[in-house]
Amino acid sequence: MQDIRWKAFWLIVSLTFICLIVWAANDAETALITFSVGITLYLAHHLFWLAKLLAWYKKPDLNAMPLGSGAWEDVFATIYHEQRRHNRSKIQLSSALDRFRHAASALPDGVVLLDDDNKIEWCNKPAEQQLGLSLKQDINQPIVYLVRNTDFIQYLKHHVDIDPIKLKSWIKSDITLEIQLVAFGSNQKLLISRDISQVEKLEHMRRDFIANVSHELRTPLTVVGGFLETLSDMDGAVPESLRNYFGMMQDQTSRMRLLIEDLLTLSQLESGATSPDEAELDVPALLNTILNESKSLSNGRHTITLDANPNLSIIASAQELHSAFGNLVGNAIRYTPEGGSITMHWDENNQEAVFSVIDTGLGIEQQHIDRLTERFYRVDRSRSRETGGTGLGLSIVKHILSRHQGRLEITSEFGKGSTFKAVFPKSRIVSK
Ligand code: ADP
Repeated sequence: MQDIRWKAFWLIVSLTFICLIVWAANDAETALITFSVGITLYLAHHLFWLAKLLAWYKKPDLNAMPLGSGAWEDVFATIYHEQRRHNRSKIQLSSALDRFRHAASALPDGVVLLDDDNKIEWCNKPAEQQLGLSLKQDINQPIVYLVRNTDFIQYLKHHVDIDPIKLKSWIKSDITLEIQLVAFGSNQKLLISRDISQVEKLEHMRRDFIANVSHELRTPLTVVGGFLETLSDMDGAVPESLRNYFGMMQDQTSRMRLLIEDLLTLSQLESGATSPDEAELDVPALLNTILNESKSLSNGRHTITLDANPNLSIIASAQELHSAFGNLVGNAIRYTPEGGSITMHWDENNQEAVFSVIDTGLGIEQQHIDRLTERFYRVDRSRSRETGGTGLGLSIVKHILSRHQGRLEITSEFGKGSTFKAVFPKSRIVSK
């Protein structure tokens, strides 16, 4: 650019200089005519190359690029280099895009690129098969016109970057799909669909197996427990020297019975997404029942108090919430030494309904907290056993809460106590 300006500058200076010489040698009129002719030629030269540039621009072939003269030499050279660089990066980009498409096509999962209006920009073969799309016909079509599944449409409307959803395929009823939306770029979305029928089948088998084993064990255990109880109650049936062993056998059978009951509860909870008996639930009344039950479990060893908002109720399953809240309070009693206190709260917070159990018990070290809801995860195995724990209580609580779209929040300070909160969404609240 600098070069061009200098060239133009020197040309005008030279022309002026020549005109001055002409003026000195002749007269002012001849000098002015010389200057006008010079400027006209200069303009004609520029117009000529501008027309050449325009003509080339309509058909931008690098091999047919004019060479230019004067200042235009630089202009054409710059355009030539820029165009070459542009062509090179275009080739690189398109080969990168080709590589991406090949890689995405080879994925076993379905991938659909959606724009900000949920129109299909591209999809791979598995997506065509799983979602019933056709790239050729459906490109630029809104995906909601093509996939007429209400759950899918709801998910697409609201859920980007959250947990995937499971759906029965609308193409083949024996296929279960997991669908996830991931945001990328400016408002674009990546829809990933995965065939999880096999995983679901195995999960189903595992649940059935646990449920069946638990059922099969329940009857013989009831018989053994019954006989042990009868024999203990019969005068002289058990020699004094064996009474101790009989007590241990009874404790162990009732522990096994509790375990089986919890396993059955868990497999029942896992088998359905929603509770069958959901209705408007008078939570304060339920909490009063739990307060009485917990007082009898504590047997006067703790101070237990309840502070419940009488006007706050939710839509929930009474049986399931009794079990979840009972579990949390039961744990607080079991893991709080004698003399400690347990406080139950029920109130609204940030438009959510929250049940909290606060104890002044043993507390839990931070590294255990994330794992507490895993099956059979215990911080202190022997204490859990001594106090009649099965290691399944918090798993049950977590399942029940997730069936109510709720969540469990745990905070604890080792040696000082813990707070367990069951939080329910606004959509479940019915305020009186
Ligand atoms: P468990 O039957 O062993 O109590 P849970 O699933 O109910 O099983 O609880 C898992 C573990 O979490 C317990 O073993 C215990 O270590 C810990 N825990 C649960 N509640 C409390 C509490 N209120 N205070 C201290 N630890 C707790």
